[in-house]
Amino acid sequence: MIERIGVIGAGQMGNGIAHVASVAGYSVQLLDMDQERLDAALAMIEKNMARQVRRTLLSDEDKAAALGRIQTSLDYASFGDCDIVIEAAAEDESVKREIFKTLVPHLGEETLIASNTSSISITRLATITDRPERFIGMHFMNPVPMMKLVELIRGLATSDETFEEVRALAKALGKTVSVAEDFPAFIVNRILMPMINEAVYTLYEGVGNVAAIDRAMKLGANHPMGPLELADFIGLDTCLSIMQVLYEGLADSKYRPCPLLVKYVEAGWLGRKTGRGFYDYSGEEPVPTR
Ligand code: NAD
Repeated sequence: MIERIGVIGAGQMGNGIAHVASVAGYSVQLLDMDQERLDAALAMIEKNMARQVRRTLLSDEDKAAALGRIQTSLDYASFGDCDIVIEAAAEDESVKREIFKTLVPHLGEETLIASNTSSISITRLATITDRPERFIGMHFMNPVPMMKLVELIRGLATSDETFEEVRALAKALGKTVSVAEDFPAFIVNRILMPMINEAVYTLYEGVGNVAAIDRAMKLGANHPMGPLELADFIGLDTCLSIMQVLYEGLADSKYRPCPLLVKYVEAGWLGRKTGRGFYDYSGEEPVPTR
């Protein structure tokens, strides 16, 4: 039975996973590379829970209890008594490799490992660990406290028992599961990212400006957010990594990342998290940059 959950990476996804897990009554151990990131994550979780309290989705007492269930650490030894560790660090295979290599010696024999990767092969990530049968893809959506879906991705070696335990965990976190096969970017991003990439091409080729493109898709296709606004929200580095995985993994030129997306990432304009992407977030309202 899962009672204690480890989370690696306290960025927007990791803090969201820690948030929903603690509210659901699990004890959470959160790890990142430095204390500032952990402090920032705790502040963000507190702020997001306070919003839920204002909307009467959470009581003050439950908020305090949930926050009390979250511990932070920079040391992998803190995962020693976790029943599952969910990796939500940067979308970079070499980073994830190093993390899994460091993690494994600290785990109990039965501990499950999940990766929140948006696109990297679960079968391949599993081989870095000593327990491919206890390894699974658990792909949360952003923002985690609000989005209902979790994609579950079985690697070739994932056991039925692991799958069922993690399916039950997703349910206990209040999420609905879609099962995806282990192909590049799974279901959501296989469909979503080429659309975002195409929106960046539309901008790059001057078919429309940022505002026109986002307005067109919001009012013309009834999307709640425009594709460029959504790209900024996800993080342009993450979007680019996923396109690269699709391009390389499926060897089809239709997945070629737009050069403008590459340029934004090279500039460090990664979207909301850096204050600038297709919009500038330094003022009260986001301002289109093109
Ligand atoms: P982010 O940049 O907000 O956070 C990543 C965090 O990982 C940072 O705090 C960073 O310090 C930490 N980190 C990096 N290397 C580390 C290491 N070696 N050890 C410990 N911590 C490390 O990114 P994010 O948006 O939270 O994405 C995290 C993962 O979740 C990625 O795999 C991404 O593809 C996936 N994901 C993202 C979204 C999204 O919309 N952003 C949605 C679903 C899944």
